Amino acid sequence: MHHYQPQDILIERGEENAPVVRRVLQRLPQLPVRLVDRGSRPSTESLVDPFGAGKKTLLFTRNRSRFLEHCPAGTPGLVCCNYLVVSLISNCPMDCSYCFLQDYLANNPLLTVYTNVDDLLGELAAVVDRQPWKQFRIGTGELSDSLALDPLLGFSAELVPFFAQRDNVLLELKTKTDCVEGLLELDPQGRTVVSWTITPAEITEAEEHGTASFAERLDAARQVERAGYRLGFHFDPLIEYPDWQAGYGRTIERLFSAIDPRHVAWLSLGSLRLTPALRATMRRRFPHTRLLSGEQVRCADGKWRTFQPRRVKMYRTLSRWLRRAAPSVPVYMCMETAPVWEKVFGQAPGCDKDLAHTILSPSLTDPATIDAP
Ligand code: SF4
Repeated sequence: MHHYQPQDILIERGEENAPVVRRVLQRLPQLPVRLVDRGSRPSTESLVDPFGAGKKTLLFTRNRSRFLEHCPAGTPGLVCCNYLVVSLISNCPMDCSYCFLQDYLANNPLLTVYTNVDDLLGELAAVVDRQPWKQFRIGTGELSDSLALDPLLGFSAELVPFFAQRDNVLLELKTKTDCVEGLLELDPQGRTVVSWTITPAEITEAEEHGTASFAERLDAARQVERAGYRLGFHFDPLIEYPDWQAGYGRTIERLFSAIDPRHVAWLSLGSLRLTPALRATMRRRFPHTRLLSGEQVRCADGKWRTFQPRRVKMYRTLSRWLRRAAPSVPVYMCMETAPVWEKVFGQAPGCDKDLAHTILSPSLTDPATIDAP
C-alpha cells in the first residue's frame, strides 16, 4: 500500500521539541512547516472537500483533556463489552466511504497528532495499576487507524512496552494497513493484540480507499504472528451485497488457511451503521458507493442499519463459519441490542461485565448455542 506523507506540517507553539515532532521533522525534512498559536487552525471551510483536504495537513498539538474514554458502544440499549479507548491521533490518512469520522470530525478535519504521550501513559498507569484485580482492554483505533502513521510517528514503540509490563491490561492496535515494521522488534509479552478489519476483496477495493489489500493485511498479520503478537479480526462493517455469502466464505477460508487460530484473541461482527448526516456526506463524497442501496432501516439509536432479519442472517452465517474455522476463539457482536444477540447466539450477556469476561473465555458464544441460518 502507499504510505502516508502529509503536504504540510503545523506545530502548535511550545511543542516544537516534543520527541514525536522531532522524529517526524527528521523523517520528512523537505516539508513546509508552520508554527501556529494554540487553538488557531487554517480554515478548510471554503474548500470543495474540507474533510479530504484536512487529511493532508499534519497538526501537532497537546491533548488537554482526558485520554481514557469509554467506547461509544456504551450507548443505552446496546450490549456493551466494557472496551476503553485512548486517542493519540484524530482523523486518518485513508478514506473509507463508510467512515464515521466524516461526520464526527466534520468541523475539525485536520489530521491531528497529540504530542503528550507521557501524559497518556501516566493516566493509564494511574487507572490500571490502582486496580490490579481488574482486566482492561484498551484500543487506540477509535479516532484513527492505530498503525497507519506508525512508520512516521513511532508511537507503538512507546505503547507496546508499557502494556508488556502489566498483566491486567491488553492493548488492541486496530488497522487496515500493513504498517507493522515498528512492531516486529518489540516484545509484546502477550499483552498486545494487533487486529485487522476484514471485508471481501471486492468491497475493500470499492469502498476502503487507500487501505492495504486483503493479501497485504494477511501478510502483515503473519509477520506479527511470527513476532509473538496475538491477533484479532473484525468483520465490521458487514456489507450485504448480492454475492456476500461467496465473498465472505472465500475470505474466511483464506484467512484461516494463513493464520493459526490458536494465535487469535477474538473475532467480532458488526453491521454497517450510518447516521443520517454520514449518509448525506457519503452521497456527496462517494457518489458511486453501493453501500446506500441495500435494505436499511433507522434504528432506536438513530443510525441506519441493514434490515434486522437480513443482518441476523449474516451474523448467524458468519459466526457459524468462524466457529468452525476457529472453535476456541470468542466471537462477539459490536453495537447490537440484546434481542439481536438472542437471535444470533441464543442468549445475550447479562451485563457488560459478562461480555467482557466472555471475550476472554468464549463459553457464551459456544457453537452449540448458534442456530443454523
Ligand atoms: S481506516 Fe478506519 S479510520 Fe481510516 S478511513 Fe477507514 S474507517 Fe476511517
